[in-house]
Amino acid sequence: IAENSHYQATHLLQILRQIQSRYHYIPEAAIEQLSGLLNIPRTQIIGVVEFYSFFHLAPRGQYELLISDSITDHMLGKKDLFDYLAKKLDVAVGEVREDGVVSLDNTSCTGMCDQGPAGLVNGLALTRLDQSGIDKIAELINQQKPLDEWPEELFQVDDNIYKSGLLLNQQIEQGAALRSAFKRGIKETLKEIDYSGLRGRGGAGFKTAIKWQFCSEEQQTERYVVCNADEGEPGTFKDRVLLNAYADQVFEGMTVCAAIIGAKQGFLYLRGEYLHLYDKLQSILEQRRQNSLLGNNILDTGLDFDIEICLGAGAYICGEESALIESLEGKAGIPRNRPPYPVTQGYLGKPTVVNNVETFLAAAGIAVNGSDWFANIGTEKSKGTKILSISGDCARPGIYEYPFGTTIQTILNDCGADDVLGVQVGGPSGTFISNQEFDRKLAFEDLATGGSFIIFNSSRNILDMVHNFAHFFAHESCGFCTPCRVGTSLLQKQIDKIVEGHGSAGDVVALEELCQLVKNYSHCGLGQTAANPILTTLERYPDLYQSRLKEISFEPGFDLDGALETARRMANRNDAGAHLAQTDASGSRP
Ligand code: SF4
Repeated sequence: IAENSHYQATHLLQILRQIQSRYHYIPEAAIEQLSGLLNIPRTQIIGVVEFYSFFHLAPRGQYELLISDSITDHMLGKKDLFDYLAKKLDVAVGEVREDGVVSLDNTSCTGMCDQGPAGLVNGLALTRLDQSGIDKIAELINQQKPLDEWPEELFQVDDNIYKSGLLLNQQIEQGAALRSAFKRGIKETLKEIDYSGLRGRGGAGFKTAIKWQFCSEEQQTERYVVCNADEGEPGTFKDRVLLNAYADQVFEGMTVCAAIIGAKQGFLYLRGEYLHLYDKLQSILEQRRQNSLLGNNILDTGLDFDIEICLGAGAYICGEESALIESLEGKAGIPRNRPPYPVTQGYLGKPTVVNNVETFLAAAGIAVNGSDWFANIGTEKSKGTKILSISGDCARPGIYEYPFGTTIQTILNDCGADDVLGVQVGGPSGTFISNQEFDRKLAFEDLATGGSFIIFNSSRNILDMVHNFAHFFAHESCGFCTPCRVGTSLLQKQIDKIVEGHGSAGDVVALEELCQLVKNYSHCGLGQTAANPILTTLERYPDLYQSRLKEISFEPGFDLDGALETARRMANRNDAGAHLAQTDASGSRP
């Protein structure tokens, strides 16, 4: 395996993926061998293995089943199905069955929120799980049928495109964007991208042309293009669809970028959960090479550029661009200090443009159609359209493209959402808006989003969502900085306490303080936004939190009564619960 990767340390992640897939874990002997072959300290390899949730130091089942723990899967009945699955397979959650055939566990969102409950078997997506599907899966596993003999419908992934606009309607012929860019001139094409007003579609909204220009002006001539297809934000799945149906245009956008910045190498960092797309994407790349759209001397222009696909391994933080670059270099995906930004010191310390899948798709369209095609749509500060992944309580979950400036109410009408309590816009790190705010608009100047749009109707308890998101962040914190590592874990505990009915008034105050601390002192965007679901719902539904509180001033977050049991026995006291009696403001007991 290492030889196929030319013993490059940067390929460590890809090598580990193959070892995990072959042996169902990373054996100690493999770590030893890799350490010598790749010249990486053994402890560093172990650190990488431990960092990514798809790698294991101890054997997993021959069939490794992971079921998505996303809030949308829970809304579709995940918990009961999960229990049913565990019973059917006779395996405990988090364990490997005694015969070693199967293991079962939770995983964070798998990017199938429009067709859940969903999961993965040996990395391949399973969709629309129900009892009969689970019966079938259990039977296949017990018969030890190879995955390629499983019925196709278990793995069926639909695009579910319900509303197309500027980007999804365009049918660009292969090579058309590149030909237009060369015909117009590379510098002029950058100007068109500038005039179009295109901003990064990952959520932050940095102007694309400026990023590309900065990179092209760097002194170092070894430069890179990276397409961030690691959409791990629960509720986001549009990149899955774009790469399934529009990959050629995305690769074309990357190649236009390479021509502008002078890059010879590009990477598509594909989230591990989209393994099912890998072969198809490789064959598109191969076709592009055969058609002189990748490789040496592209279209006889003198441009040399190629694209490599790198699969992630189940770490949400790798969606953060500097963590993604670390991961591409074969390391744990720990966010770097910024500045320097990737545009000056990115992959291997060289100038690197990192953009989202949708951004490259839009850039290809602009290269063909010119800036006005894009700039004439949207608002003053948010040009063009935004592609949304819509899930949750609506009749038609799927992909919708809207001009920026569209109201939330219009979107809800289109996807068949009734009796809506609120919408989580932008995933767990985004904003929760209540049904009093549906005249707000999709735009960088109002509701900026990477694309996740989760709808909750009035039968839902918003605290269930908050609870799910708090667990998500505690699980996904990379652990590098203390405010986030400890803070997200404390937030999770505090939310558990309140949701389970053990909170008191002081706990909400403490919760708010903790939120501010995590938000203000964390190193990267994950920690800085981890408290958003709590803060935005506390602001809108303070009564909801209050309704879960006990009418006492304080209750510990652990079983104090149980802890005092031994002391009570020694002191011959028989007054369990005495410590819970509260004092009033004057200090006397009620
Ligand atoms: Fe890691 Fe969280 Fe710190 Fe970001 S904020 S570096 S995810 S621990």
